[in-house]
Amino acid sequence: MAQEFGIVVIGAGIGGGQVVEALRNDGFAGTIALVGTDPLPPYYRPDLSKKVMLEDTDPADSALRGAEWYPAHDVTTFFGDTATKLDTSSNTVTLASGEELTYAQAILSTGSTPRTLEVPGQELANVHTLRTAGDAVAIRSQFGEGRKVVIIGGGWIGLEVAAAARTHGSDVTVVLRDAPPLKNVLGDELGQYFEDLQSKNGVKFLADADTTGFAGEDSVDTVQTTKGDLPADLVVVGIGADPTIELAEAAGLDIDNGVPVDEKMRSSVPSVLAIGDIANAFNTRLDSRIRVEHWDNAVRQADVAASTLTGGSKVYDWEPYFYTDQFDLGMEYVGHGSGDDDVVIRGDKDSGEFIAFWTKDGTVTAAMNVNVWDVNDDLRTIVGTQVDASRLADESVPLADL
Ligand code: NAP
Repeated sequence: MAQEFGIVVIGAGIGGGQVVEALRNDGFAGTIALVGTDPLPPYYRPDLSKKVMLEDTDPADSALRGAEWYPAHDVTTFFGDTATKLDTSSNTVTLASGEELTYAQAILSTGSTPRTLEVPGQELANVHTLRTAGDAVAIRSQFGEGRKVVIIGGGWIGLEVAAAARTHGSDVTVVLRDAPPLKNVLGDELGQYFEDLQSKNGVKFLADADTTGFAGEDSVDTVQTTKGDLPADLVVVGIGADPTIELAEAAGLDIDNGVPVDEKMRSSVPSVLAIGDIANAFNTRLDSRIRVEHWDNAVRQADVAASTLTGGSKVYDWEPYFYTDQFDLGMEYVGHGSGDDDVVIRGDKDSGEFIAFWTKDGTVTAAMNVNVWDVNDDLRTIVGTQVDASRLADESVPLADL
């Protein structure tokens, strides 16, 4: 017999956790179910490659809310269970456990799935991707003085895990298809800045190398690349993630680079909303659809979805934001730039404290503050406006006047 709910939220990452809280804050009084594959209640995923790996914290300490919060707010949880079918004609969700849940409204927040390298040996022990608390703890357990850690991919996971492993004394090599790391997001100059930061701290890079296989008895001991073999006790594959859209696709929702939704997070099926990594959402500020794989976006889109379902007026109208911490560098990035955009530096890169702007045809597309704090709100205001490059670079012009 199906259990009946007003709202069923499928996916209990940051977006799923935030949306149930926002629904209650916005006064939704109906029944809510929250379904998530991870056995833990929703947690703050950015901590996995930072606090959990650097300071050895328990991922449970990064929970958005303690397990007791959910029953106390009349949210029925199905953690450690997975939605296997969404039937939009009968408004029913089927779970792997066999449970059936009916809904008036469903919210999809199924997040992303890490890409894997389809090469021989990928099933060996100690070859990992990083997505869940379990992954983070398993990876961290292999760090240590002299341990050989090979990371495939120079994106955010690659560089944050490299910094954590190196901080624990591991011997770290990052394998790049293309140098410098982060090139597609930051471009050559700032990508090189991150490579130099990592190199200064003892991380090695193997550039222009394709990974062709992993070898070892039960556990990996070698990474094979087109530039030669690397010894390895641990491999972390950080080569990007794909939106987890199988459920939405099988349910017949429109699919186009994720699940297309409007500025209020409504999909092509009126009873289904989508938020977070899977949502290719119409952004009113940018006047276009974008899909963003960062936690801040999931949190804010959760607030919009709750508003939509409680008669509120919130829309998707902000510039994306994320941050990273690597060694002694902390940075925040706001905007939606491309590595191909022009770069303007305000301050001295060599001092380790500066602001970078990306511009295209005179418009600021993104900005990043590196070890300079309490300026991100100003930067958010500047992104999207036309500013002369010389003024962006001129530190005597206050940010507020740009
Ligand atoms: P990512 O940031 O998209 O970076 C993936 C990197 O892997 C890119 O540099 C990509 O290079 C490279 N790559 C792709 N295929 C490859 C291959 N076959 N061999 C070698 N390199 C390959 O993805 P991620 O680091 O895996 O992170 C996964 C998701 O978590 C992303 O959405 C990311 O934004 C998010 N995340 C964010 C943060 C943060 O905001 N601080 C931290 C951790 C994770 P090309 O660009 O040249 O393809």
